[in-house]
Amino acid sequence: MKRTYKDITYTLKQSKRKTLSIYIEADSSVSVLAPESKTISDIEKVIENKRYWVYKELAEKEMLNAARIKRDFVNGQGFLYLGKSYRLSIVDTQDVPLKLLNGYFCLRQNDVETAEKSFIDFYRQKGMKKFAARMRYYQEMLGVRPAGVRVLDLKTRWASCSEDKMLNFHWKTMMAPMKIIDYVVVHELVHLIYPNHTDAFWNEVDKILPDYTERKEWLKENGVSLDI
Ligand SMILES: [Zn+2]
Repeated sequence: MKRTYKDITYTLKQSKRKTLSIYIEADSSVSVLAPESKTISDIEKVIENKRYWVYKELAEKEMLNAARIKRDFVNGQGFLYLGKSYRLSIVDTQDVPLKLLNGYFCLRQNDVETAEKSFIDFYRQKGMKKFAARMRYYQEMLGVRPAGVRVLDLKTRWASCSEDKMLNFHWKTMMAPMKIIDYVVVHELVHLIYPNHTDAFWNEVDKILPDYTERKEWLKENGVSLDI
């Protein structure tokens, strides 16, 4: 349910949870998760106390969105793959719409109009193999067994873990460096043991990737530039 307190519009979700949390989503919407027992005035008291934090977070999100890069499909334009930028080269003919060849993203002339789809297909195909390989490596260390992997458009998330133990990754994650991909993979695998971001969860991530905070920070700062 959408409500407004002062100039903050938020979506209120009440459930059997014990604590109240305020989240700023990637699209700058505000969500409040509250216990069923809380009244609106209880909830608004908490929002009042966190009002300046909410403003600060919203201002930061706005800056990040302004930095979002939109790229044109023209010769020489750089596109990311595993943390490196490769220039686009439009070619007359080749066997597939898009491929990485001799340090260039080669895009077939006839496919320029649907280039965005070709890039997404490229990241998804590469992602299926890469994520699966990294999962195989880390799942042994963690002693977990995911059901499988999917690469799709997760909108505002890099990855998620479904109840059926499938790990889902956003195709955009394939633009990040391997170090970051490994962090995202480990993060989701650890969710098979601990569903929530508790201390135990982060301890487990830390055992596998002692420098995980740097990787997490990188994703927070640079994530927005990973786009086509
Ligand atoms: Zn998580």
